[in-house]
Order: sequence, then structure tokens, then C-alpha cells
Amino acid sequence: MTRILIAEDEQRIATFVDKGLKGNGFSTAIVGDGDAALEFALTGGFDLIVLDIGLPGRDGFSVLRALREAHVGTPVIVLTARDSVRDTVAGLEGGADDWMTKPFRFEELLARVRLRLRTGDRSPEVTVLKAGDLALDLRTRRAQVGALTIDLTAREFVLLELFLRHPGQVLTRGQILSHVWGYDFDPGSNVVDVYVRALRKKLGDRRIETVRGMGYRLP
Ligand code: CA
Repeated sequence: MTRILIAEDEQRIATFVDKGLKGNGFSTAIVGDGDAALEFALTGGFDLIVLDIGLPGRDGFSVLRALREAHVGTPVIVLTARDSVRDTVAGLEGGADDWMTKPFRFEELLARVRLRLRTGDRSPEVTVLKAGDLALDLRTRRAQVGALTIDLTAREFVLLELFLRHPGQVLTRGQILSHVWGYDFDPGSNVVDVYVRALRKKLGDRRIETVRGMGYRLP
């Protein structure tokens, strides 16, 4: 199983990333300071590291430099709240493979994680998700129902991908919000219902079931 180290001291973000990665089949470990991050990264046999820059103790830049000096080539995705160009460039020069500015949507992080892991792994990748006569092409980002091709907006695509990756499973509004819109979204928002309605309009009414008091499900 692919192992990912999450070095993040903000509990809310660490949990958000951890849940999302586990839900997508990754094995994870969380550390909350720079010294633990370096120790785990050096000895833990991780396939990828998600590294916050603003860590207590040793900061993320220092962890990154120490790793590269030790010739540890594990892919690193840097998380930064400091969205200045200078810090980002410094991070990349320090050997980061990619970076994300907070706040971010989980889906964006997941795409980068997959991309970084793929660089070193040539295993064939699933590019079309299917459920009955419904198919979603992950490259063209278009849905297909029978012979009919359907264009989706960016959010509709992410939402449908989420349903297709969890067929038969009830997804709560909270799960959908955090996956598609990110952790900073207002939990009282009805945006999930609005987008489910939009998907039904495009794909057919019975495609996504409402499970009363719980959420939605792809039957
Ligand atoms: Ca931090």
C-alpha cells in the first residue's frame, strides 16, 4: 500500500488531508512538528510527503533541505500559508516537487499526489469510471450515458467522480462539501443539493438517490 507522511501542525488541516487520503486507499501517518517530520521521512519508508512550511521547531524548508542533503528523493508536496512568490520559489529550490497554497480543495491535493506518485510508478491508471450505462472519462472530464456525451462543469465533474468512486455508499453533505469544496466551506450551505440537482438534470433523475436524513448515494 502506498504510504504518505502528513507533516502538518494544524489539526484541522491534518485531519482533513488524512481522512481524504485514507478514503482514497492510501496509508498515512501524521506528524505535527519539523523534527518528527524529518525523522519519519528519513526512516519511515514513505512514498510521498505532504509537508507544511509553517511547522513548529524545524520549519518545512529546513526539513526539505535536510532530506535532499541526505539524498532522500521521496516526492514532496509543500503546503504553504505564505503565498508570496519568494517563499514558494525558495521552497521549490529547496527540492519540493510541488506546492499548494492554503486553503485548498482536497481534490486539488489528490490530483497532485497522484501525479507525483505516477512519476515513479508506471502501473496502468484507471481513466474511465463506470456504473451501469454511466461512464466518466477522467481525461476529457466528460460523462457518457449510453451513447450520449455530456459536458460537465469543473465542480460537477469532481462531484460525479466522488460518487463513482464510492458506488452504493451513502455520502453525507459534510463529506461531499469537504471533498469537493474544501474544509473552509460553510457547512450550512445548500451548495451540495444545488449541484446534485444539476447533475440529475444532466444525467437523469434517478442517477443519484437522496437518502433521507443522511445524504446521497449512487445506486
Ligand atoms: Ca502550520
